[in-house]
Amino acid sequence: EKKVVLITGCSSGIGLSLAVRLASDSSKVFKVYATMRNLAKKERLLECVKDLHRDTLEILQMDVTDRQSILTARDKVVEKRVDILVCNAGVGLMGPLEVQSLDTMRRILEVNLLGTIQTIQVFLSGMKAQGQGRILVTGSTGGLHGLPFNEMYCASKFAIEGACESLAVLLQHFNIQVSLIECGPVNSDFLINLQKAELGDPSLQQVDGRTISLYEKYLQHCSMVFQNAAQDTEDIVEVFLDAIHSTSPAFRYFTNSVMPPLTQLKVTEPDGMEYIKTMSKIIFADEDQ
Ligand code: NAD
Repeated sequence: EKKVVLITGCSSGIGLSLAVRLASDSSKVFKVYATMRNLAKKERLLECVKDLHRDTLEILQMDVTDRQSILTARDKVVEKRVDILVCNAGVGLMGPLEVQSLDTMRRILEVNLLGTIQTIQVFLSGMKAQGQGRILVTGSTGGLHGLPFNEMYCASKFAIEGACESLAVLLQHFNIQVSLIECGPVNSDFLINLQKAELGDPSLQQVDGRTISLYEKYLQHCSMVFQNAAQDTEDIVEVFLDAIHSTSPAFRYFTNSVMPPLTQLKVTEPDGMEYIKTMSKIIFADEDQ
């Protein structure tokens, strides 16, 4: 019997690569429901799988912020069960906190946090009834330590950690394993889809000069990090496969195989100051100290 996998956010990036990889698996053991908010963007995915995998791949519309669309997608799963749910859809938000409107802040929580949680909610009772299941969530180092100018993004990703960890404690009693795949920078459409305050934006005129100059440094740091250290989506997919193939999957997987040194600092120096100073030094090289 095939393993039924449903993935959110498959029009690009990690979701697309994972859908392609699982649908093309030589074992043909996976039936993949690749979901995306906007079906007009399905060409890229179709291009990647060609016509080869008609029996292992199905594309469905699903906007994780729209409960009805999640329910509709669930009802289109012909097997009437999902063995592996992958909550991957997410967006970034970058800029000085002062310029973020309440709507913008709500929106990112809506997609990243509530989108993930309500997707899990919809599939949870089915998994409990089946007596087995896997829930895989694309996590972020931004969910493990704070990043300046990413307050709301980090808030949304930290919140996912809390929700997933809480669920994991309970769900082991139902033979359902929750795993977070913690990614650092990844080459995907993330930076294109990201909502970012640009230096010339009129909205930034209300922000003090000191913040702007630090933001400028942050943006340089960010593009350097993406240039030098970003992983390819295929590397991330390998980590998903590790988790999927493991008979007793861990709660957290780090895509670089170990906990990144900066995250480690939060564990070894729990008062938090070492992390804050080190991060500031790295990003701002360090202006004031
Ligand atoms: P991406 O922008 O290529 O993919 C994100 C996908 O989510 C897109 O296809 C987008 O259309 C989809 N999406 C957005 N809103 C949606 C909604 N309401 N309903 C359904 N789908 C929606 O970027 P990616 O890097 O592949 O991102 C995947 C996940 O990885 C995200 O959760 C992101 O936060 C996380 N992540 C990315 C990075 C990175 O550097 N790229 C790092 C850490 C974590």
